[in-house]
Amino acid sequence: MKYCQHCKMNIGGNPEKCPLCQNALEGEGERDYWPKLVLGSTKRMKAFKIVLFSVLAVCIISLAADYLFWKADHLSFSPIVVAWLLMSGWILELVIKKHYNLLKTMLVSMLAVCLLCMLTEIFIHYAWEIPYLSITPGYIIPILCSANVVANFVLSLVDKHFTDHSLIYIFLNILIGVVPWLALLFIEGTPPFAWSSCMVINILVFIALFVFRGRIVLNEFKKRFHM
Ligand SMILES: [Zn+2]
Repeated sequence: MKYCQHCKMNIGGNPEKCPLCQNALEGEGERDYWPKLVLGSTKRMKAFKIVLFSVLAVCIISLAADYLFWKADHLSFSPIVVAWLLMSGWILELVIKKHYNLLKTMLVSMLAVCLLCMLTEIFIHYAWEIPYLSITPGYIIPILCSANVVANFVLSLVDKHFTDHSLIYIFLNILIGVVPWLALLFIEGTPPFAWSSCMVINILVFIALFVFRGRIVLNEFKKRFHM
């Protein structure tokens, strides 16, 4: 019999994680109650393979069109296409996975999109000789960060499976929304409007979490800081 410290519950069989809260279990396991599932031949897997092949195929065709078949002088575009395709495929893989933490997937996807926007902007600047406008750090990151924190909060109210396990990802998002604003405040004196709005939205969500999800938030703090 295994034991979950967070749910204060004994769990039969030999699972590694608590079926309710997904935290690691303690204690000695017994013989499994259920046969272990062998993954690999499911419809999900087949769908994933089709997506994987399509992404790689379009990448190759795009590179070939850009550098092999297009003889005339032109702006090279395939590195951007390939980077965005690979990232979309990777995010899709996160979503297709059966047991995923939605808020974690959203945060990781947001960071990946921000990074790729940044790289795209730098690529366009150097390869196409378009002036660097710093749209990503100035607008895209604060806008995505605000949208993501609001979406996370709505999910935390709606999603029945929302546990303290998901909270850390909202807190990380809030840090991303507030820390750059503080840095800008010290460096520039007056942070730009987009970052100020982002900071305000993130602080509001932080307060709302305490008001609407107070018990879970306090438990999470106790767990993280061993109080
Ligand atoms: Zn549990």
